[in-house]
Order: sequence, then structure tokens, then C-alpha cells
Amino acid sequence: MTRLARPLDRLEPRYDVVVVGSGYGGGVTASRLARAGKRVAVLERGREVVTGEFPSRFPDLRGEMQVTGKRMRMGSPTGLYDVRFGEDMHVLVGCGLGGGSLINAGVALRPDPRVFRDPVWPDAIAQDALLDEGYARAAQWVRPARDASAATRSKFSALHHASAALGKEPVQAPVVLSFEANVNPAGVEQPACSYCGDCCGGCNVGAKNTVALTYLPDAVRHGAHLFTHARVSHIVKTPRGGWDVHFTRQEGGAGESPRTVTAELVVLAAGALGSTEILLRSRERGLAVSDRLGQGFSANGDIIAFGYGAKRPVNAIGVGHPRKVEGIDVGACVSGQIEIVDEHDLANSLTIQEGVLPSALAPVLPALFIPNGRLLGALKSLVAGVYKGPFASLQTFFAVSHDSASGRLLLEDDRVALSWAGARDEPVYRRLDAALEALVSHGGGSYVKNPLAGTIMGSQPATAHPLGGCGVGRERADGVVNHKCQVFDARSGAGPADVHDGLYVIDGAIMPRSLGVNPLLTITALAERAMLHLASDHGLAFDAGPRRYSAPIPVTAPGMEIAPAPRAPISS
Ligand SMILES: Cc1cc2nc3c(=O)[nH]c(=O)nc-3n(C[C@H](O)[C@H](O)[C@H](O)COP(=O)(O)OP(=O)(O)OC[C@H]3O[C@@H](n4cnc5c(N)ncnc54)[C@H](O)[C@@H]3O)c2cc1C
Ligand code: SF4
Repeated sequence: MTRLARPLDRLEPRYDVVVVGSGYGGGVTASRLARAGKRVAVLERGREVVTGEFPSRFPDLRGEMQVTGKRMRMGSPTGLYDVRFGEDMHVLVGCGLGGGSLINAGVALRPDPRVFRDPVWPDAIAQDALLDEGYARAAQWVRPARDASAATRSKFSALHHASAALGKEPVQAPVVLSFEANVNPAGVEQPACSYCGDCCGGCNVGAKNTVALTYLPDAVRHGAHLFTHARVSHIVKTPRGGWDVHFTRQEGGAGESPRTVTAELVVLAAGALGSTEILLRSRERGLAVSDRLGQGFSANGDIIAFGYGAKRPVNAIGVGHPRKVEGIDVGACVSGQIEIVDEHDLANSLTIQEGVLPSALAPVLPALFIPNGRLLGALKSLVAGVYKGPFASLQTFFAVSHDSASGRLLLEDDRVALSWAGARDEPVYRRLDAALEALVSHGGGSYVKNPLAGTIMGSQPATAHPLGGCGVGRERADGVVNHKCQVFDARSGAGPADVHDGLYVIDGAIMPRSLGVNPLLTITALAERAMLHLASDHGLAFDAGPRRYSAPIPVTAPGMEIAPAPRAPISS
């Protein structure tokens, strides 16, 4: 597909709206406000990685890693995989135009209704019917679907066999993948999924319905300007109203001076870590925000774990595109899941999904998993050996549940850091370990909680679902943003529910608790909901429906121009 981003030199000094970050929250915002006729700029710190450019070999994957820990930083600041080593917990997030959607598994689930009955949410979210409308709009654009052939995959059968241990059979998981070739709502021509399993390495087919293939091209079709390599540090209210957004160019070389763009309306959509970090820095420069800023961080009770040595073939290592090996049927990254619902205590409900490791990781798996056998592992690290040998029965699990959301994000050396002293003792990890251990042993394998526990990673829990930091609340005493995602104003003299004009946070940072399911659908739904409120508050109008274009954009045709949106929708 054509590149969506423009060179940063073409950034204009002033826009109606600046959106910071380009994941689900940023993509929805840019599309809707561009459709409403606003002049929108999106600033994204990462690179634009288009279909066909995702890492398929281990050296490429290694080059896409950026790792930050206490007093250490390695890798390119625009690497796709942004790993934050923490003393209490590690966090993995995506970095690039499209955010986490570029490297996620695409599982799209709506939480148990009891999640929204928790009084931690402002009443309006459950009561104004716009949450349902948000979910409906989100589903129309990211299009969750179930793979009709899911149950034929070896990894699904292995989960089915093991599920006897938990007394609950697996079901097909809804994933935001195109199982048939189609022209999507943004007018992008997507091929059908090739079942290569590489979703978490980045889809080189163009079948995953990422933000980069849906909301962002829609935003560009409606006139939005997208910029990469722009890392926002903080925002400052201007004396005339509006906001100065301060950023630096990534990889611009030493001495790159900070730059500023001004907007009447700023939407922080840099993810739970990014948006909280920007507000924390802005507070240090005088922005009066709620004392709740940084609090209420949740890992969404999320873990990745493994089973090694199962008796059955699992085939859960991606084969990539183009395929590296023939004759192995992998399937989508997640085909099946076991849903365990505790009717009495929501906290005990959990979902276990079978997952696939990206093909680029294949050569290093022996060194990771063969106990005390790293040398032996290195000798066995031929790719074909991984697909045929003991690794053909390696199981990968993604499990999601509920935690206490009691982590805290703060600034250390001007970078966001997570403090959560009791994280590893959260009851959720014992529950998940027990369930996974039972599943794996039933299949004849050994449960491997963390193959990297003996390395720099240690035994801390890790999450790919960071949530919170700028949680919603009724007023600034219990939240950082209100139910419309507007940031509470904490200046002296401001009322408890007063907000800063034109300042929003719209992404995973606004979640006030764990969701207990993979979060992408809820983040997208709440962003769609926020747009409906924003439009009504600002007298804006937009239609959110798909459009039919006379010239669809093929996903694999670099350099093609994006045709502008038709004046009136042919269908909506
Ligand atoms: C490996 C993996 C698998 C996952 N699988 C699933 C799944 O199957 N289902 C699911 O629901 N969820 C999954 N997730 C989680 C999901 O992808 C995230 O919850 C989601 O992407 C968060 O959306 P967001 O809009 O909050 O922010 P993000 O998608 O994280 O987007 C934020 C964007 O802001 C940019 N940014 C950050 N800081 C700055 C800054 N200072 N200046 C400019 N730009 C900035 C980032 O580079 C990023 O592009 C997975 C995540 C990972 C990493
Ligand atoms: S399984 Fe392969 S082709 Fe299908 S969406 Fe995932 S990465 Fe793309």
C-alpha cells in the first residue's frame, strides 16, 4: 500500500486537531475528526512499516527491538517492539504507525457486562447507550471474525484435548483478520489470510485488519496529515487558548532541536504508557491535572506462557509469508480459546487462548527452551528442525483475567516507569498458573512459565496489555478524565468536574480497571463513543460508515496515490 505518512518537514505550524499516537485510540480520532472536516495532524514516534516489510528473519526481528530499563536503553527508538523492563513488571507495547495493532494477535472480545457495572466507571458510560453504539462502530471497522476452519488446526485440537483438565471445551476466538479477500471500509483491498500464524510478528500478507489498514487510510482519505518519527514530550496551554505540542524528531541525529505544533484541540492517544508519560511531564511544566494521574495501572491479568514436550503435534510456530516451510498448517495466531466464567466472582473469570510464535523467532527457540541445553539448542537451531522436532509440540498460551489495578506510573529520569511492589503476588498469577499447569500436564508436557526467567528478565510478570494511568472518573478526585475523555482541570478555583478546554486522552490509558479480555475492541469502542460526545459538544457532524471507492488501494502496491473520499458517500 502507499505510505500514509508525509515527511515531517511538511508539518504545518497550526492544525485544528493534533492527535498524538496512532494506535486504536489515535486511529479512530483521526478518522472521525477528519471526516468532520477538521484539519488533523497525527504525530507518531515510530516508523511506518507497510505490508511486506515486517521482520521475517531473526536478525530483522532483533533490529526491531527497543529495550528500556532502569538506567539502560538499547535498540532503535523506532523499533516495532518496545520492551520496558521494570523492577516489578515488564511491559511490551508496539511502536509504529498503527501502534499495537501492527504486532498484536487481533483477538477482539467484549468484556463480561459485570466489568462495566463496577462503580469505578462513571455512570454515563453504561447508561447513555453510546457504549453499545461504540462497540457496533468498532466492530464495523476492525471486523472481528471467527475462522470457520479453526477447529481443524493442530493447536486447536491440542487445546481441545487438554481442555478436559479444566472441564470446559474451547471455542473459536473472534479475531480481526480477513479470512476472505475484500475491500475494507477504508477502501483498501485486503487479501485473504494465508494462515501463516505470524500475526504477532506483523502481517506480511495484509490480511490483519490493523489500524494502519483501516482507520488511518480513512483519515488520510479525508485529509488528515500523518507524521512518523515525532516523539511528543509534553504539551503546554497557550495564553490565547489552544495547545502547544512539543516534540522531537526521532533519529534526527545529535542536536535535533525540539519543535512545536499548535492546535485548538489535542488528543493524547499514545497508549497507557505514552499518554500518561506526556501528562506527567506536562504536569511538571505547570499543567494542573488530577492527583490520580499515573495511578490505577492494570496489566489486565495478562500473561504469555508455554507448554513444552506435549505428546501431540501442535504446530504453533509461524511459517511466515512467503512460507518458509510447506506442508504445515498453522492457522491464525489465535484460533481457539477456553472461557471460564465465575458467576459469583468476576475476578476469577479467565480466558486462555492458544497462540503462535512468529516465524522470525524460530531459529532461537531451541536455545530458549531446552533445559540446561543452550549449546545443544544452538546446534539444533536449523529452522526445519524447529518445525519438525520437539518444537512441533511447543504450546504457546495467552491468558487474560483480572488484577487489582494497583500499579503506579511515575517519571524517573524523565521517562515513565512502573511501580507495583506487590505485582508478582497478585492472586491472578496463581490462578492462571494452576489452570495452565493443569492444561499442559493433561497433554503430557511441562509448563514453562517463563523461559527467560534465568536471564536479565528475571521472574517478574510481564504484560502486553498495559491499561490505565489516566483513568476515567466522575470528578478529578477519582479520575484523570471524565466519561467523554476530557482531562479534568485541577487549577485552584476549578470545580471538581471542570475540564481543560480541548484536551483529551483517548486510548488504553483511560481504563479504570482490568477488562479481563483482550482490550483492543473496548479501546476502539470507547474511542468511537468519545467521538460521538466530542461531535455533539463541538457542533460537528460526521458519518462513520464504510465508503465504496471507485479506486480501492491494493495492500501490496507501494507508491500508489490514495484517492480522496467521494463528496457524498455511495453507501454508508
Ligand atoms: C504482542 C502483542 C499481542 C497483543 N494481542 C492482542 C490481542 O490479541 N487482542 C487485543 O485486544 N489486544 C492485544 N494486544 C494489546 C493491544 O494491541 C493494545 O492494548 C492496543 O494496541 C492499545 O491501543 P492504544 O490505542 O491504547 O495504544 P497503542 O496501540 O499502543 O498506540 C499508541 C501509539 O502511540 C505511539 N506513542 C507512544 N508514545 C508517543 C509519544 N510520546 N509521541 C508520539 N507517539 C507516541 C506509539 O508508538 C503507538 O504507536 C497485544 C499487544 C501486543 C504487544
Ligand atoms: S495468520 Fe498470517 S496472513 Fe493471517 S492475519 Fe496473521 S499474519 Fe496475516
